[in-house]
Amino acid sequence: MDKQAQWDIETLQKTIGVIPYEEMGRDAIKRAIKALEKQVPQKVKKYKGLNETACPECGIAFGYYEYDDEKFDYCYNCGQKLDWESEVEEG
Ligand SMILES: [Zn+2]
Repeated sequence: MDKQAQWDIETLQKTIGVIPYEEMGRDAIKRAIKALEKQVPQKVKKYKGLNETACPECGIAFGYYEYDDEKFDYCYNCGQKLDWESEVEEG
């Protein structure tokens, strides 16, 4: 699924350069790419100092990661698919 979305994104990006879409058509393709990008999981930001997690896309805070048994698959704010396996720790 994730690889499929990645492949679709790359294919659509190539398509923009090849097919002479009208501007509205090009905008539609760009929106489709944006939507697909939300299907590719991004690593949740984990801020060690604050003991908090946040969406990698819109930056909204999810809460303390010590209590992250409520890991949701998608950001409730922007719809970004989330990867909770990240070991990323900042600030
Ligand atoms: Zn978000």
